[in-house]
Amino acid sequence: MSSETTVSPQVEPKIPLCRENVCNDCTRETDVIFESIDHIRYGGHVRLFENYGGFRPAGMEGERLDVEIVQMPYHSPVLRLLLAFMHHDQPQPSVASVDIYTLRAFADAAQKHEIFPAIQVCKLQMEIHIPNHPLIVFSYAARYKYRDLLNKAAKFTIDSDFSVLEKQFGSDNSRDALYAWFRYREGWLELQKASRREPRFIQHKKNSYCEPSAWVAFHAEVLKAFGESLSTLAEATNIVARYEHMLNGCDKCLARSGLLKTTLDNQLDRIKYASCSLFLV
Ligand SMILES: [Zn+2]
Ligand SMILES: [Zn+2]
Repeated sequence: MSSETTVSPQVEPKIPLCRENVCNDCTRETDVIFESIDHIRYGGHVRLFENYGGFRPAGMEGERLDVEIVQMPYHSPVLRLLLAFMHHDQPQPSVASVDIYTLRAFADAAQKHEIFPAIQVCKLQMEIHIPNHPLIVFSYAARYKYRDLLNKAAKFTIDSDFSVLEKQFGSDNSRDALYAWFRYREGWLELQKASRREPRFIQHKKNSYCEPSAWVAFHAEVLKAFGESLSTLAEATNIVARYEHMLNGCDKCLARSGLLKTTLDNQLDRIKYASCSLFLV
């Protein structure tokens, strides 16, 4: 590949083939060159691409004598995907093995140029990346107001530091998305507060065999299992249930632990109802 960026008007640059560089089986002639910011050139088809904004060579009208090189603001993996997806009559490439950063750039470019099949593919692929890159998916979903995706990703972001979150947002709607995130996370902070509150003591009968130390040990284990992270609390009621055997079957202590489970369940329901997108303006 050439690293030349300027071409003498006397020397026609060689147009790369589409076949194998962009589309495996494309037999169309190439009549325009698109160059990525890392100086990789791809052949394209003026007529096929003319309806996509940004892919129309400036000198397209009238008689064109020179082959035009259209500079594109994308790295080569992104540009190659864009060109491939604009072949509406060719099999589209898989994005399954595309890394998250390329996928994000490709998704933004697909939105900008309104390449609808690519937009859909990106959205589906972004969802797969939620567990490993929740903040990237969250900010992408916020940018395009994909509420379902936003809510799915939000659950994975609640333990993030604000400074890290802030870095993900660079667009104009960042304030809205950050506000929505704060409001959503507030529900989890409430849950954390509730998880740390000890439920009230329930009076035992005088001849009860219950050892008060059993409750103390049980509650200490539960608090330890809750830990410091908010996301662990998604399983808060199950965690409580897991340690109830330590209460040695005492119905009063079990009722007390039931109070804790009810409080946690109610707050988890509130979180489920008040999804993140609800706060998105
Ligand atoms: Zn082609
Ligand atoms: Zn008891």
